[in-house]
Amino acid sequence: MIEQLLKYQEVDAGLRKIEVELAGSEARKKAVSAKKFLESVDETVNKLDVKAAELAHIYENLQNESKVLLGQREEFTGALEHAEDENALNYLAKKADELYVKVKNLSQEAAKVAETMQAVYKEYASVRANIKTAQTQYTENGKIYNDLKASKQDDRNKIEGELKELEKAVEPSLMERYKAKRANKIFPIIYEANGDFCGACNMELPKSTLSRLKNGEVIECDNCGRLLYLKK
Ligand SMILES: [Zn+2]
Repeated sequence: MIEQLLKYQEVDAGLRKIEVELAGSEARKKAVSAKKFLESVDETVNKLDVKAAELAHIYENLQNESKVLLGQREEFTGALEHAEDENALNYLAKKADELYVKVKNLSQEAAKVAETMQAVYKEYASVRANIKTAQTQYTENGKIYNDLKASKQDDRNKIEGELKELEKAVEPSLMERYKAKRANKIFPIIYEANGDFCGACNMELPKSTLSRLKNGEVIECDNCGRLLYLKK
């Protein structure tokens, strides 16, 4: 029964070769990395949105505060025109100067905030450019990959047809075990035991496993997960 499965695996190797070639193709790698970028970029854009809104809010508050102080200063300078004694004049002039300094400081602060806002907008522009590049990379390489995949389709169909025929001769439960391993991308799957050792990874096999092996069972290596048989 093992011979049929070995034959199956031999043909299956051709299918595996195509799969590895497709998975490892430059076009697929580029398309996948572009897709990953596009999936993660939303978060970057959201963060920039939050930052831009925060800065706009701070800027608006500074402007409002400035307006209030300028209004106060106007009151003082207006009163200055009508003040008569020197003490009142000095007091009002001092107050007006103090407010002038405050307004100046606020406008410097606002300028800094505006600068940070500019930096955020620049980052936006660069992210947008990166998104465009990634979209192009994804589309172009996706097409190359699909063409490559299509070019292998005939070979695949042929091998799959052969495998379907070969499968008929393999014991179903063994076939199932093989297919489960295959789905986990293990290949080759079935090996001949090398004396008391696994034929794939060379791990020494436990006594209980060995006795089952000698009874003609197909066993599984605990270390590498391969299926092992003993040649009669
Ligand atoms: Zn092993």
